[in-house]
Amino acid sequence: MPILTEPIGSIPRPVELVDGMKAHAAGSIGVDELNVLFDRAIKDTIKRFEATGSPVITDGEQTKPSFATYPINGLALDPGGVVIPFADGHTRQLPTLKAGPFRYQTYASDYLNKAITLTSLPVKQAVITASALSLLYPATGIEGYSNEAFIADVANEHEKDIRYCLAAGAYNVQIDFTEARLSLKLDSSGGLLRSFIALNNEVLNRLSPSERQKVGVHSCPGGDGDSTHSADIPYSELLPLLFGMNATNFYLEYAGEKNKVEVLEVIKDNLRPGQRVFLGVTNVLNPRIESAGEIRDLILEAAGYIPLSQLGTTDDCGFSPFADDLSTSRDIAFEKIRARVEGTRLAEKALEKTQVAI
Ligand SMILES: [Zn+2]
Repeated sequence: MPILTEPIGSIPRPVELVDGMKAHAAGSIGVDELNVLFDRAIKDTIKRFEATGSPVITDGEQTKPSFATYPINGLALDPGGVVIPFADGHTRQLPTLKAGPFRYQTYASDYLNKAITLTSLPVKQAVITASALSLLYPATGIEGYSNEAFIADVANEHEKDIRYCLAAGAYNVQIDFTEARLSLKLDSSGGLLRSFIALNNEVLNRLSPSERQKVGVHSCPGGDGDSTHSADIPYSELLPLLFGMNATNFYLEYAGEKNKVEVLEVIKDNLRPGQRVFLGVTNVLNPRIESAGEIRDLILEAAGYIPLSQLGTTDDCGFSPFADDLSTSRDIAFEKIRARVEGTRLAEKALEKTQVAI
């Protein structure tokens, strides 16, 4: 039985592109010049992705400003939104909305439409959750535009984002839900996580069962500058609620987890029929490239807990969810992806042998 393997999404941007994005933001290069850099980066990323042997690829999110902010890029916003603290002391701060009605400036299908013209391989597309965008409403409110009206707009726009990707021919759509684990840090009662899941499920429930087959959810402790925001929250608190999301595929950070047996037990106890879990087998926060044999062994161990028909592999997270994150090199990212693909094939072969022996 083949074990499915997929990337999460982002690949570190070439240094010339990161410099170009900064120069464009500072007004020293124009949009045409920036587009040349974008084009070059997407083409190079897809070519290198294909060379890893990965059966499913992405555009490496080369033109996304970040996994979370692409829908609001270019929108007039105020500073001073929710602050996300990382373990190494740095922070990222969300902006807040100035006025309604809320509409995406960019749908993820724009990225996909470009990528699928450059490869014959299946392309997956990541989108941001409705719950992350729900955090953009300012605490002081917006005159004439209630929080309820805003949330309804967010849900409708998120639904469009998913549907446009499916219509554009996405192999599948992955909803990046990095605030899931973070929410348990902000509210250990689980109330905030439950409200996030309820909002996201409201949108997922609008999809047909066959559409939901192509929809997954990514959860991780955050990854930025090789640091995390919620790695100290155990999976035993997150997964019982997370698997309540009405999606088929779950892409979980795993290689970076300290107590893997405990994680496997929680997955085994909570994964629902019809759901598939893709375990991260490459640690995106550590520059050491895993060997294919080491990855094979991780998968074989997991196969003792999770039925093969419900098990896949992935990377722990995107390699650069924020465009300016150069903490990992492109070379390391692609080598890790190659190791994931090879390790997954080795595990398949080892499991075939066991099955023949039985
Ligand atoms: Zn992630």
